[in-house]
Amino acid sequence: MKLRVLFATALAVAVAATAPTQAAKPVVCAQCVKANMEKLAGDELRGRGCGTDDEHAAARFIADTLKRYRIAPAAGGDGYLTPVTIQTSTAAASPVLSVTAGDAKVTFTQGQGIVAMNPPPVIAGPLVKVTDARTAGDVKGKVVLYDSPIYDAPGVRALQQAGAAVVIGPANDQVLEHWAELAARPPGATQVVGVERRMGPRPVVFARAEAIAALRRLPDGGAARLDAPQGPPRERTTYAVLGVLHGKAPDADRHAVLFSAHYDHLGDRNGVVFHGANDDASGTAAVLELSRILGSGKKPRRTAYFALFGCEEEGGLAAQAFMAHPPMALGDLAANLEFEMIGVDDPKHPGFLMLTGWDRSNLGPTLAEHGAKIVPDPYPEQNFFQRSDNYQLALKGVVAQTISAWPIPPTYHEPTDDLAHVDLKLMDQVIGSMVGPVTWLLNSDFQPAWNPGRKP
Ligand SMILES: [Zn+2]
Repeated sequence: MKLRVLFATALAVAVAATAPTQAAKPVVCAQCVKANMEKLAGDELRGRGCGTDDEHAAARFIADTLKRYRIAPAAGGDGYLTPVTIQTSTAAASPVLSVTAGDAKVTFTQGQGIVAMNPPPVIAGPLVKVTDARTAGDVKGKVVLYDSPIYDAPGVRALQQAGAAVVIGPANDQVLEHWAELAARPPGATQVVGVERRMGPRPVVFARAEAIAALRRLPDGGAARLDAPQGPPRERTTYAVLGVLHGKAPDADRHAVLFSAHYDHLGDRNGVVFHGANDDASGTAAVLELSRILGSGKKPRRTAYFALFGCEEEGGLAAQAFMAHPPMALGDLAANLEFEMIGVDDPKHPGFLMLTGWDRSNLGPTLAEHGAKIVPDPYPEQNFFQRSDNYQLALKGVVAQTISAWPIPPTYHEPTDDLAHVDLKLMDQVIGSMVGPVTWLLNSDFQPAWNPGRKP
């Protein structure tokens, strides 16, 4: 799941037409789940960093596993892998913020006192201090020191909309907690080649208390500059892995269900491996296990697709490419269930999974009626519905929602998100609880639909 820097602007009707299937209940293979988790989140793949050889090895492993599970390739030709080229802006030097006023000069380098997010190569303008965004005078083209005791997102947005060249604001706890990670971010958003360029978020500078204090001592009108020289973009490849189990109904492909997860994580950062066992080896293992069970049982009526995306952590990049050039008509997807972080039990709903955007569609409640151990998302303020790859599909109209256990466990984006901190028993249980409902869904005429007015 993508890290969302809080406040950072930078940053149907059910038609029960089918008789219940009388096939023997398929069972989760605990050994398979464990083996897949050990491969994906083990030391060998070193955290599957976006665009690395480790991530590519993970993609090949997933493709081989789908093949072994009798899932056909669906990426075109006889392949499971769709290569996706991505370009990331690079910093030629660390961004530096400097303000000169008469004899006085203060300078802050990225990571020391400040973190500049999404800076363009140069910003220059007179410094102006603002304590209340609502009563700020003309800030157009100015470098605004927003001298507010806490980071105030609406205030920052108002100043940006009023034309501030950049807003410097106090770093909040979340920014301080992820300081080094944010400081090391490239100056612009990573772009997917062949996909319409995305406007990056606006630049913003987070400053530590001491930097705010030093800037506060300078007079308004001082010459402020933020220099963030860029180098040539760095090009990398990631993959979307796609398999299909064609249904047996004549129109099976026109009412398909997509099961998805992302297989990348944060990789190796300065020698520390972020294994991403929960985020999101667990979701990948869930999709693989569902594919194994479905591939080894009776063919369902509807078609099932299994998609595992790379580079989610850097902006849902493989999913963006998939959405821009989908291998099927998106209108043929009846639903998308994304599995994200199902390996750590949530004390708010122990033993159960949550579905993001629960009240937006009839999908979650209907799956729950059919035995899925899923409940509404208890964290609506976190906007999880919008923070996974499902969201891009939802924007295109597909009923696309994400299933998680605990979406913000203490191990979230920490090196401790490793095999020792995921609960394989829980995973087996919750995957098992989805098998019946998913099998029902794939054999039903049920039409997942957005609730009135709740389509994103
Ligand atoms: Zn994540």
